Amino acid sequence: MIPASFDYVRATSLAQAIGLLQKDPDGTKLVAGGHTLIPTLKLRLASPALLVDIGGINELKGIEVGDRIRIGALTTHAELLASEPLRKVLPIFHQTADLIADPQVRNRGTIGGSLANADPAADWPAVVLALKAELELAGPTGRRRVAAKDFFVDIMSTALKPEEVLVAIHIPRPGPGARFRYRKIRHPASGYAVVGVAVALSLHDDIVSEAAIAITGATGRAFTADTASARLIGKSLSSENIASAARLASEQAECLSDHYAPANYRKHLVRTEVGRALASLGAA
Ligand SMILES: Cc1cc2nc3c(=O)[nH]c(=O)nc-3n(C[C@H](O)[C@H](O)[C@H](O)COP(=O)(O)OP(=O)(O)OC[C@H]3O[C@@H](n4cnc5c(N)ncnc54)[C@H](O)[C@@H]3O)c2cc1C
Repeated sequence: MIPASFDYVRATSLAQAIGLLQKDPDGTKLVAGGHTLIPTLKLRLASPALLVDIGGINELKGIEVGDRIRIGALTTHAELLASEPLRKVLPIFHQTADLIADPQVRNRGTIGGSLANADPAADWPAVVLALKAELELAGPTGRRRVAAKDFFVDIMSTALKPEEVLVAIHIPRPGPGARFRYRKIRHPASGYAVVGVAVALSLHDDIVSEAAIAITGATGRAFTADTASARLIGKSLSSENIASAARLASEQAECLSDHYAPANYRKHLVRTEVGRALASLGAA
């Protein structure tokens, strides 16, 4: 449980971090909260020559709630849980952070680290998908924004290039009638999602005008259940419409299997959790 030796630099600017990544992209790793990276090093699943600590880069910090919402990549789960301005416009951040692990993990783990790591059972990927967020990436040639739906490529694999840093998450401010829900079935040992469901809906006169259902934990990467979401548009959240959307979401999920949850159980959970999330919004 002792990592291979490495050099360590605490970067003071984004440019410095990118410069160090550029020098040796394969041998350099960024560290944010370290809650995934440090165990990985201890297990010698990775042995970078250099760790670049980005914890001191101010540009990666903070939550801004205005016409748009900006969440810095270094924002911890605990900060997302505690932010009242964010909770007022996007309560799904509070709902989700509240279900992540325990206070120790929430105090260190960052949303940027979670998204960059793209663990198939992590919670935030479903949330940024349901919110149609854009992820701001910075690299040697400048900045670019990637839609959340294009960011998650495969298990632990994203659109981030080796010399890029995830800077922030940008989300449009929701309009009137917007409702949000995050639910998950936790793995009893790790707390990660066996299945997690994020829903963002707009309801006007009890009719759904916009819907996005995103699912994590079930498959190799978080995904949006597009057919299920489309099925709700122009309809009420009646029990029949909810059951139909939940069935479609479950049909779309090509589920993972492990000792705890075989694929058919995960498929069942997708159906029940989508149904429960939608039902809770209808009743809100
Ligand atoms: C016991 C335990 C329980 C947990 N339970 C849950 C849970 O229930 N749900 C859940 O979603 N998560 C859970 N986690 C994960 C945790 O909450 C963190 O989200 C996760 O560890 C990644 O965040 P971090 O800041 O620690 O990243 P780090 O470990 O520092 O980094 C992770 C990876 O992302 C890269 N990286 C970090 N920041 C950036 C950036 N800004 N730009 C580019 N690359 C970057 C690093 O190079 C590294 O490869 C758990 C972790 C532990 C240890």
